[in-house]
Amino acid sequence: MSIRAIDAHSVHHISSGQVVIDLQTAVKELVENSLDAGATSIEVRFQHYGLKTIEVVDNGSGIAPKDHDSIALKHYTSKLSSFEDLSRVLTFGFRGEALSSLCALCDDFTVTTATCSEAPMGTVIEMDRNGKMRSKGKIARQRGTTVTVSNLFKPLPVRRKELERNVKREFQKALNLLHSYALVPCALENKGVRLTVSNQTEGGRKVVQFKTDGSPSIRISVLAVWGSKALENIVDLDLSFDVETEKSVMKRVDPDNDISIVTPVKVQGLISKFAVGAGRTSVDRQFFFVNGRPYNPGKVQKAINEVYRTFNINQSPFVIANVILPTNACDINVSPDKRTIFLHSENNLVQALKTALETAFSSSRSTYDVTSQ
Ligand code: ADP
Ligand code: MG
Repeated sequence: MSIRAIDAHSVHHISSGQVVIDLQTAVKELVENSLDAGATSIEVRFQHYGLKTIEVVDNGSGIAPKDHDSIALKHYTSKLSSFEDLSRVLTFGFRGEALSSLCALCDDFTVTTATCSEAPMGTVIEMDRNGKMRSKGKIARQRGTTVTVSNLFKPLPVRRKELERNVKREFQKALNLLHSYALVPCALENKGVRLTVSNQTEGGRKVVQFKTDGSPSIRISVLAVWGSKALENIVDLDLSFDVETEKSVMKRVDPDNDISIVTPVKVQGLISKFAVGAGRTSVDRQFFFVNGRPYNPGKVQKAINEVYRTFNINQSPFVIANVILPTNACDINVSPDKRTIFLHSENNLVQALKTALETAFSSSRSTYDVTSQ
C-alpha cells in the first residue's frame, strides 16, 4: 500500500473532533472568544441542554467586515501570528481552530456581529461545514457578537448518540466549567464580566442557571454562583514562593551552565477553613487557573488536597486557586482543547507550594481553623 496524503477536507474533519471533544469544550471555546473580545457581558443560552442549540451573546469588540470571510477558516486567528508569540500569549485563544471545528461538527453555524462603527446595524453570516461563508445579510445589532451552534455532533453519529444519552450529565459538566469562567474575570486584571447562563427545554420556559453581576470581586462572584452559605468559613489563599528550575531542565536549556534560575510564583484565591471542607470529594467545588486560564490541574490540585487533608482528614476543601507565574514558565499549547498546561519544573513547584501552604495553615491556625475561634 502506498503512502498518500489525506485530503484537506478529511483532515479537517478528523482534527475537529479533538478540538471540540464534548459539550463543555464547545461552550468553553465560545465563552473564551467573548472574553478575548473584551466583552463585559456574556450570555450563554442552551436550548434543550445544548442538544438543540448553544448560543453565546456578547458585547465585545465585534468582528470587522474585512474579517467576515475568515471567521471560521482553520488556523485563522487575530491573536497570534508566529510561534514565538506563543510564550507571551495572554488571550485564551491562539490556535484559530475552535470556530472552524464547530462548523465541521454541527448542522448550522451562524455568527451575528457588529463593531462599533457598524452598530446599530450588524451582519448575520452562515457558515458551511468547511467554515466558508454560505450566506450573509444585514440585521439590527448592537456592538458585539452572537455565535449560534445547532445540533452539535450531528456529523459524528456515535458522539451525538453519547451526548443524547448523557445530556443532563454533560450539561452539568458544562455548567461546572462555566462556573470557573464566572471566576476568571476576577483572576484577570480585576475586570468584572457579567455572565448569565440559561437553559430552555423543549416546550418549556427559559430557566436561568446562574448569573454573576459583573463585580471584579471573587467573593461576590462566589456569592452569585453558590449563594451566601458558600462564603461561610472560606478564607483567602495568598501564597508567594520561589521555584528553582529543575536540574534536568537547566541542562537541556544550556548544557554547559547549570546556574539555578528562580521563578517567582504566586497562588491566589480562596480555600475552606479546616473544619468545614466541602465534602469528601469536591471536584465540582475546586477551580484551578494558570494566569487566569482555567485548566485541568493534576499535580497542583493533588498537592493542595494532600496538605488540606493533613489538617482535616475527612474532607476536601472548596478551593479557587490561580497560579500566577511568568508566561514563559508554562506551556499552554499542550492539547487541542487547551485544557492541559505544563508548568516548567512542576515537581519543584508542587513541593514549594506544599511547603508554603503548610506554613500558612500552621502559622495562622486561627485564620484557617474555625474550631480555634
Ligand atoms: P482563536 O480564538 O484561537 O483565534 P477561533 O476559531 O476561536 O480562534 O476564532 C477565530 C477568530 O474569530 C478569532 O481570532 C477572533 O478574531 C474572531 N472571533 C471569534 N469569536 C469572536 C467574538 N465573540 N468576538 C469577536 N471576535 C471573535
Ligand atoms: Mg477561540
